[in-house]
Amino acid sequence: MDSLSEVLLSVQGLYKSYGSVRAVRGISFRVQRASVFTILGPNGAGKTTTLEILEGIRAADAGEIELFGHKTRRVTERMKQRMGVLLQDGNFEPYLKVREVLSLFSCFFERALPVDEVLERVALTSKTGALVRTLSGGQRQRLAVGVALINDPELIFLDEPTTGLDPQARRNLWRIFQELQDAGKTVILTTHYMEEAEALSDHVCIMDHGTIIAEGSPEELARGLGQDSIIEFELPHMEAAALAPLREFGSAVEHRNGSVVIHAPKLTEAMSGLLSWARAHGIALTNLAVRQPNLEDVFLSLTGRRLRE
Ligand code: ATP
Repeated sequence: MDSLSEVLLSVQGLYKSYGSVRAVRGISFRVQRASVFTILGPNGAGKTTTLEILEGIRAADAGEIELFGHKTRRVTERMKQRMGVLLQDGNFEPYLKVREVLSLFSCFFERALPVDEVLERVALTSKTGALVRTLSGGQRQRLAVGVALINDPELIFLDEPTTGLDPQARRNLWRIFQELQDAGKTVILTTHYMEEAEALSDHVCIMDHGTIIAEGSPEELARGLGQDSIIEFELPHMEAAALAPLREFGSAVEHRNGSVVIHAPKLTEAMSGLLSWARAHGIALTNLAVRQPNLEDVFLSLTGRRLRE
């Protein structure tokens, strides 16, 4: 196999507008087989629109897609048989049992996995006879993942799969997604949680206002910010002028949403300068943390905004 055959999906110049709203503005990217490819971006960035085009739910205005080795303007029914889709708001009939939901969806495909196998993969074996209405939010989402897996797809789309779930339920889902990747599946994920993108992704596209503004592995993207350490602390109210002395030892100093973020090329000097400044102003440095740059910092430095502002 040559290296090109490892590319499962290639997208070139994809555009989509809704009237005057230019949701997707000419994006291009490639997804390697057996990888987790993530589109990270804030609400309204164009993530769902992109996914819906790739899932064959929407037609693009322009652009070319090469999927499973075939070039196309629009995803075909045959391609859909090889995909699994976790929809953003998959509401199942509340009076169906868990097993019945999976059996129902298995009828839509030429090839389907045994329901018991899927139940096991999404850790719902003990809930096989439970009514959908009795499931917790996390269990309901695992059922939705089960539905996305029923046809044993090669390519799985997960559109904001953990939005609104508590940390435990989120981690349970992450484990299932990691197992999919271990099993050689290709996963395309959208999220506005940078921790999720960092924990799961091989490759991240950062999307904003319908365009891809940066891409790479989470490590590559963070490295793009240089070797600076990030110092962060809470400071609800402060005059911008009072922060000015911090710029002496910070290559960038941001004050947003009640937190100060300093990019510090020389950590020791920055820390001693910060402590003097805090003492002089009587500032408590609440929740002071020092860390390496993450994807949120990348987004902030590219757009001047936070992912969930
Ligand atoms: P979210 O995280 O909120 O789902 P997103 O990144 O997935 O956001 P999209 O849902 O693709 O973004 O929306 C991109 C832009 O297109 C937004 O401005 C949105 O309001 C608009 N949009 C999305 N769907 C439609 C539609 N059916 N009709 C009109 N405008 C739409």
